[in-house]
Amino acid sequence: MNATPGHTGAPRTSVGRSRWRTALRAVRRPSVLPRVAVSLGFAVLLQQAIASHAWNLALITFGTFLLSVMNLLRQQVLTREGARLNSIRVKADNETRFRTLVQYSTDLITIIDGADTIRYVSPAISRVFGHEPLDVEGRALREFVHPDDVVPMLGFLTEAAKPSSRATTSQWRLRNAGGSWCRVENVAVNLLGDESVCGVVITTRDVTHRVALEEQLLHRAFHDELTGLANRALFTNRVEQALLRASRDAHRTAVLFLDLDDFKEINDSLGHAAGDSLLMQGADRLRACLRAGDTAARLGGDEFAVLLEGCEDSGEEAMQVAERIANAFARPFELDEREAFSTASIGIAISSGSEAGEDLLRNADLAMYLAKKRGKARVERFASHMHEEVVERLDLLADLRYAIERDELQLEYQPIVDLETRTVSGLETLVRWDHPRRGRIAPADFIPIAEQSGLIVAIGRWVLLHACAHARHWSRSLPELLPVTVTVNLSARQLGDEHLLDDVANALRVAGLRRDQLVLELTESTLLANSEETVGILTSLKALGVRLAIDDFGTGYSSLSYLHRFPVDVLKIDKSFVAGVHGGPGASALASAVVALGNSLGLRTVAEGIESEAQFEVLHALGCKFGQGYLFSHPLPPGDVMAYLTLHGQRASVSDARSQLTPLQQDDAM
Ligand code: C2E
Ligand code: MG
Ligand code: MG
Repeated sequence: MNATPGHTGAPRTSVGRSRWRTALRAVRRPSVLPRVAVSLGFAVLLQQAIASHAWNLALITFGTFLLSVMNLLRQQVLTREGARLNSIRVKADNETRFRTLVQYSTDLITIIDGADTIRYVSPAISRVFGHEPLDVEGRALREFVHPDDVVPMLGFLTEAAKPSSRATTSQWRLRNAGGSWCRVENVAVNLLGDESVCGVVITTRDVTHRVALEEQLLHRAFHDELTGLANRALFTNRVEQALLRASRDAHRTAVLFLDLDDFKEINDSLGHAAGDSLLMQGADRLRACLRAGDTAARLGGDEFAVLLEGCEDSGEEAMQVAERIANAFARPFELDEREAFSTASIGIAISSGSEAGEDLLRNADLAMYLAKKRGKARVERFASHMHEEVVERLDLLADLRYAIERDELQLEYQPIVDLETRTVSGLETLVRWDHPRRGRIAPADFIPIAEQSGLIVAIGRWVLLHACAHARHWSRSLPELLPVTVTVNLSARQLGDEHLLDDVANALRVAGLRRDQLVLELTESTLLANSEETVGILTSLKALGVRLAIDDFGTGYSSLSYLHRFPVDVLKIDKSFVAGVHGGPGASALASAVVALGNSLGLRTVAEGIESEAQFEVLHALGCKFGQGYLFSHPLPPGDVMAYLTLHGQRASVSDARSQLTPLQQDDAM
């Protein structure tokens, strides 16, 4: 508001105001010099008139002096009155300005009495919150405040009403006329001592949108965008706090670390949208398995974590939750109108009272790692020896890389016996690792590491070459015997290797072994891992002329329908079926069914792990054709095989002898 040019009223700007104040001061303290000069002039005139006895002139001079003095006094009175009127006008202008400001302000101004009764509320209340001032004035402020915020609000007012208080601020939720809650920010000033106000003045600002944005930003900073679960930062923080609480109330804290087993395959084959959908469904399943106070987080990729507070020492509860989660993940996921499976491997770590949150998370991660290594889709609880186990595993892997070139791998051969004649029809190749420091290591302890690292491809190639060479050597050296088959175990990783066919053909060629003397063994889970491709590879292997066997039959998959799809020749009945087979008809029922199934499909049946005569008798009676086990022989070093074959080999007739030649040699002979 600028002062209007030529405006004669009270100056409105601060500059105008100060000029006016100077003028007023001038009126209050008029300069005395002109007055002294005029008075002296009159005095000289009067003195001259009296000296010359001009009494008329003296009277006129005195009269004029009196009139001047009176005029001067009148002028001064008028100026003072003008200044007073101006001051009244400025005050009125100020009041109008403040009223307008209050009227149109987006902030709400409320005057509260000493308690919490609303004495005055500015008209902004109808614009901002939809209430009419008259409906609000006279009522208690708490009627409009969210029940959860009433106590802090009253505390704020009490603080503001203290004589020594300065401006204080607080936030609470205020109900608008529509019934919804608005977030408001309040500043209070104590004007109880000001006569014109007599109350606590609260300036209220609607910050609903600002707070909502702040909350959104905060949520983003601590949550995973895709699943809405806590992120790593929030999870680690909650674990730390839980550990603090646990140390006070002598409870345990459990962390579950969860990794999806086949997520990468699904993501790669069905696309990222399907992968995201799986993660979201997984997050929902996780939430459904937890109590309200538990925290579920996505740590990144397909890794999730769960925090359980207030657990007992045994960790029983954490184990139950983990199993509930594992079961939930075992169900198929619906993706793009197709079903996909992605089980979960879970590691559990339970606080001992001394570790930091990071340690607990790392221990759970380690247990999960071992759950994966031990076959996936399982739950492992952390134990202190796991650290060593992992380190040992890494050491072993480092050494295994050099095992072939340092000539540390050895082969043993276990005879496969014709149960009718108890003579040897084949030999299963079993690899061993003679470690320079640890001694002999069984395949169960290094084959999984070799598979995991991919080293199995090179090891498998080495086994094939040596097994074929040995078999050829024994066939040549013992021409009076029927040629034995040599069986080589293949792992899933080898089946997926593009050079497998070449490796097999090469091993046969280099050794000069008859193709049907080689049998390749695969476990059920290997066959089913990628069944369409597997059928293609197996068909190509069959086309080479080698034979195929299903190893450990009955342990992998319950569906038998796949048996028709794979071009296999041999069914090896797992030793778990054989173990109790001599315990009566009930105990042998399963083995009997498997033997019958193999025979009905026209497959050779081989019972693994026959350790006793009783087992042998039953299996033979059930119609199983071949067997293998400690009853006949433990796996033999190559140097002992010749002697064993000489004793237990199958005698060849003259016509059989010709068939011992390799296909190449047979061609040459014709
Ligand atoms: P598998 O192919 O089922 O081999 C049979 C396992 O049963 C061998 O264990 C053998 O020593 C054992 N066994 C034989 N007769 C009996 C018996 O009467 N009683 C009992 N309790 N066990 C018996 P091994 O040599 O420790 O081999 C374990 C597994 O390691 C093999 O199971 C096979 O899956 C794997 N494996 C061995 N060599 C190789 C290989 O060169 N390549 C691959 N990929 N895997 C191999
Ligand atoms: Mg085998
Ligand atoms: Mg087996």
